[in-house]
Amino acid sequence: MDTLIEKAAATLRAAQHVLVFTGAGVSAESGISTFRDAQTGLWSRFDPATLASQKGFARNPGFVWQWYMERLGAMESALPNDGHRALAALGEVVPTLTLATQNIDNLHERAGSHPVLHMHGSIARFHCNGCAGSYTLRAEDRLAQMPPVCPLCGDWVRPSVVWFGEMLPEGVLDECFAAARQCDVLVVVGTSAVVYPAAFLPDLAHAAGATVIDVNPEPNHISDAAHIYLQGAGGVVLPRLVAAMELSV
Ligand code: NAD
Repeated sequence: MDTLIEKAAATLRAAQHVLVFTGAGVSAESGISTFRDAQTGLWSRFDPATLASQKGFARNPGFVWQWYMERLGAMESALPNDGHRALAALGEVVPTLTLATQNIDNLHERAGSHPVLHMHGSIARFHCNGCAGSYTLRAEDRLAQMPPVCPLCGDWVRPSVVWFGEMLPEGVLDECFAAARQCDVLVVVGTSAVVYPAAFLPDLAHAAGATVIDVNPEPNHISDAAHIYLQGAGGVVLPRLVAAMELSV
């Protein structure tokens, strides 16, 4: 592993443009369950698509609302971990770093990364499901049995996260694709990379000639195709990677 970390650190040191692409795994050590955990955990009785689709929301808006309010509370109480902090530090030592995340928590920002491209939105923002007007969450909404009603059009309010079948936030995908085509190095952390179009990023970077580094305790198709696979948890591997870069500056 030491040799691979050194190799990854040397690659990053030589890079001008770095793209970091993260998924639920980077927040696992902050106590936020990954999508897979969610399937085996508290909500295992429900198809995740029910909680993340227009159909599911239309069928049971109260249930979907309560699930997101519980998840919001958990994400607000969670703290950034060493992996988030190492990525923020990486942003300080490479010339240009773009951080694209599929996560809807704000732990990258809270660790000091800036800016962060949120491909799947944020659980802390809300808008009307009908007229798309933005909505500011009130304290009483958190414990409500049903979603708030839009003051403008009367439709349900929902979290501003991307559900299955929905478009990604305007402009964000273009920025991510441009960064993938331009980067010298792509660092993928904690994603199974099966949710599209976000999962196109590794292919684009690969095709453009970037070196792909994958950080994940479990091998998958990204680690198989990566030039450097650093097997392990983000909170362990990423601080070692950044330390190796700093030591050899
Ligand atoms: P996923 O659950 O499909 O995959 C998680 C990946 O993280 C797996 O490959 C797993 O091996 C890896 N992993 C587990 N622990 C890790 C650790 N400590 N360090 C590094 N990697 C670790 O998640 P996904 O690929 O992000 O896709 C699921 C979708 O669900 C995304 O679209 C995302 O928006 C959403 N989601 C977000 C959050 C969040 O905001 N924190 C949490 C769950 C799901």
